Amino acid sequence: EVLGEGTNRREANCDPTAHAEVEAIRMAARTLGSWRLDGCELVVTLEPCTMCAGAILGARVRSVVFGAFEPKTGACGSLFDALRDPHHLHTVEVRGGVLESATGQLMTGFFTALRD
Ligand SMILES: [Zn+2]
Repeated sequence: EVLGEGTNRREANCDPTAHAEVEAIRMAARTLGSWRLDGCELVVTLEPCTMCAGAILGARVRSVVFGAFEPKTGACGSLFDALRDPHHLHTVEVRGGVLESATGQLMTGFFTALRD
């Protein structure tokens, strides 16, 4: 069951926190009427950044699935591994690189469209 979804609205909203993950978490929390997203899975095209990893931990999301690794900003195994850091009270199950070639093509198309 889909509880929430989001797209990157950073430019459109002039909001540096409006990443797709944060938008989806906000919608899911409203749907459930609770900030706790225990048992929920977040599925996203690109590896979440540090800010989104913080939101995922704060919302107690159970697991994250993402397509493409993001070596410059990824906080789920690339640059950092924030979600599986044992110092947190809550750890998140992470599966990265799922359908990586397909999501890589999606991202290439997205950035090409932005430039045109
Ligand atoms: Zn982010």
